[in-house]
Amino acid sequence: MQNSYFCQNSEIKFMNRICVFCGSSMGFRESYKIMAENLAQHFLKENITLVYGGANVGLMKILADTILKNNGEVIGIMPKNLVEKEVAHNNLTELIVVNSMQERKLLMAEMSDAFIAMPGGFGTFDELAEMLTFNQLRIHDKPVGLLDVENYFLNLLLFFDHAVNEGFVREEHRDNIIVENSVASLLKKLKSYSPVKMDKWIKDIKKESYLH
Ligand code: AMP
Repeated sequence: MQNSYFCQNSEIKFMNRICVFCGSSMGFRESYKIMAENLAQHFLKENITLVYGGANVGLMKILADTILKNNGEVIGIMPKNLVEKEVAHNNLTELIVVNSMQERKLLMAEMSDAFIAMPGGFGTFDELAEMLTFNQLRIHDKPVGLLDVENYFLNLLLFFDHAVNEGFVREEHRDNIIVENSVASLLKKLKSYSPVKMDKWIKDIKKESYLH
């Protein structure tokens, strides 16, 4: 079986599990659905296990179903209140039920080697922001990529640039986000990711705060 790997601190690591954040809605364009199927096909080809929110709705469903019907592995992590609302996928390789959205994100972070955000809504933005913040605080150092279908993330990325220009986001943290519009190039970049050195910024923010 072929395995995927990435290089971190000159060390080759297997990329066995990738967590995908994406819409619990379908979106209005066919291309979102097609990209979810395409991502699933690449996971199958590269023997990558999908970690995701565990739902049976929206783009999440397309992604999970495409992998499952081709005998791939899918791990869903879902808070019990959502399971009670019957949106859980019933045929997953594994469904892990947790107590809260916070616990879900922590487990997703721990279990996965990398993160991909596809088009989605507030749930997707929340998960993306949490993983970027974990990198920023060095709770982990794991690649985070956006699969930018139809320039969906364009305005968000422009806003991130604005936050850099206004002094609220460090440029190296902004640049640490991988953005691609094809699955092949995104996976390639996730595998060759090396974390930026970020120790200094804590000293910098302390210094600038004590000046005022
Ligand atoms: P959204 O982008 O707002 O549609 O939310 C999608 C993201 O939030 C997914 O990555 C899920 O982890 C989580 N999420 C939101 N709604 C649900 C749902 N009904 N079932 C499972 N997960 C959900």
